[in-house]
Amino acid sequence: MNETIFEGGCLCGAIRYRATAAPLRCVICHCADCRKHSGAPCLSFVHFAIDSFEWMDDEPTRYRSSQYAERGFCPKCGSTLSMHEEILGDRVQVTLGSLDAPSSVKPQDHVWTDSAVTWFRINDSLPRFPRSSDAVPSKA
Ligand SMILES: [Zn+2]
Ligand SMILES: [Zn+2]
Repeated sequence: MNETIFEGGCLCGAIRYRATAAPLRCVICHCADCRKHSGAPCLSFVHFAIDSFEWMDDEPTRYRSSQYAERGFCPKCGSTLSMHEEILGDRVQVTLGSLDAPSSVKPQDHVWTDSAVTWFRINDSLPRFPRSSDAVPSKA
C-alpha cells in the first residue's frame, strides 16, 4: 500500500517537514497580514493534522502576528513557512508554496477577499469569503 506523503521546506533547505496523511484543508488567504508576511499578493496554507506532521530537524522561528496566531519562517533564508493558531491546535498550517509538489494539493476556498489587492482577479469558482471561512473557527 502506498503511503500518502507530503514533503516540503524552505528555500535554503535548513527547515524540512513531512506529513503522512492527506491535508485537512487548503485555503488561499487575501488578508493584509498574510501579504506582509509573505510579500506576495495572497498566501495559501495547507492544513495537516498535527499527529501526521513532523518537522524533520529544525523548526521555524515563530513571530506572534496577532493575539490569535504565530507565524513561522526560516531564520536563515526568511522563507514564509507556517501558521500556528491556538484555536486550531489540532493542526499545523504550512504554506502551499513550501511544498515540494504544490500542485498536488487543491485549494478549497478564498478567505478575506474584502482585503484583496484591488487589481487581483480570482478566476476560479471556489467559494469566496469576505473574512473568515465557515470551514474553520479561524480568527487569524
Ligand atoms: Zn531556509
Ligand atoms: Zn491571511
